[in-house]
Amino acid sequence: MTRYSVQRFRAAVLHMYLRIAVIVAFPLFLLHFLFIATPDRGVALLAFALYALWLKWRTRRDSEESLRHANWFVLAIMCLMLYGAYVSNERMHLEVWMMIFPIVYTPIVASRERMVWALVGAVSIASVVLLRPEPLSSISAFVFVAAYLILGFITLMLVRHNEQNIERLAHLSIIDPLTKAYNRGYLKDVMVSEINRCRRSGNALTVIMLDIDYFKMFNDKYGHLFGDSVLEQVAEVLKRTAQRAGDYVFRYGGEEFCIVTSGLSRAEARLFAEKLRLSICALDIENRHSPHQHLTASAGYWCVSDLSEITPSALLLNADNALYRAKDAGRNAVVDFDDISATGTEPVMAEKAPA
Ligand code: GH3
Ligand code: MG
Ligand code: MG
Repeated sequence: MTRYSVQRFRAAVLHMYLRIAVIVAFPLFLLHFLFIATPDRGVALLAFALYALWLKWRTRRDSEESLRHANWFVLAIMCLMLYGAYVSNERMHLEVWMMIFPIVYTPIVASRERMVWALVGAVSIASVVLLRPEPLSSISAFVFVAAYLILGFITLMLVRHNEQNIERLAHLSIIDPLTKAYNRGYLKDVMVSEINRCRRSGNALTVIMLDIDYFKMFNDKYGHLFGDSVLEQVAEVLKRTAQRAGDYVFRYGGEEFCIVTSGLSRAEARLFAEKLRLSICALDIENRHSPHQHLTASAGYWCVSDLSEITPSALLLNADNALYRAKDAGRNAVVDFDDISATGTEPVMAEKAPA
């Protein structure tokens, strides 16, 4: 999610550059072609503007594809610069201005590639400075290099600041503010990606629905504020119990949690659901309204190995059915959906359930 948001931001910055490239290159092409009588430069600029326009149109919907093409775009700019450096004899010409592109491009690539692009930018500056038939004076070269480096640094700072904000917002948008478990909105995304991942790897996917027993009466007796703090403790203990890579704990709503995990057999899934239930008992929180006199929870789960026709909604709905069986059976229990489907309840495969 976070990576996706940052990627979209970088692609937006790239598109802004492409827009600037088109806005700058088209008038320059006309200028060269019609007034300065240097058609070779004009054609190069036209080709470049058309390339930027095509790239902008081609990658308008897919940020990943934009960033894949971005490297080629900047390489094209640098070839143009080198060409300009060879043919130019005038002072402060176009290619010097265009050195700006590799420099402002560096901040938008992934951080591990930044050093490479900073180096490429430096080489392009050096080549423009050195390859011009009429070299820049050392003072002009120094001023240009310093100005572009400062510009690159400022852009890098702005981009980094924005990325940090995006990362923070993206994190907040998937976290439940009370329990700090993942929220229900993120559950949808995770279910889709986990189903796809398990289809590829052949692993089984397990969805566990867990609901605290007699929590309404608990709130009535001990107060809503204490109820809130108990929800925090429950989420904490669930996260501690489900902490392998690929385990997810969501607050599904109220006092109901959903735990998603993969790679377990049916028997292991039962043990895992039991472990989650027992971890809540082990908190040893008094609940006088429960027959057990302490806080308990019920869980229903479904462990599915053949995910070819499964939708996220169906997984949730069937695990929820198992949870209601656990409630009907007296609470403080774990029920496997396959056990109840064996006694006649047909599993829903693709129904639209509230996700
Ligand atoms: P059951 O054993 O059948 O699950 O009974 P229950 O009382 O737990 O279930 P019910 O769904 O009737 O009640 C859920 C209660 O959870 C209602 C509400 O008082 C409480 N609840 C939901 N969200 C919050 C919350 O954010 N904070 C607190 N303190 N309580 C909440
Ligand atoms: Mg409940
Ligand atoms: Mg409930």
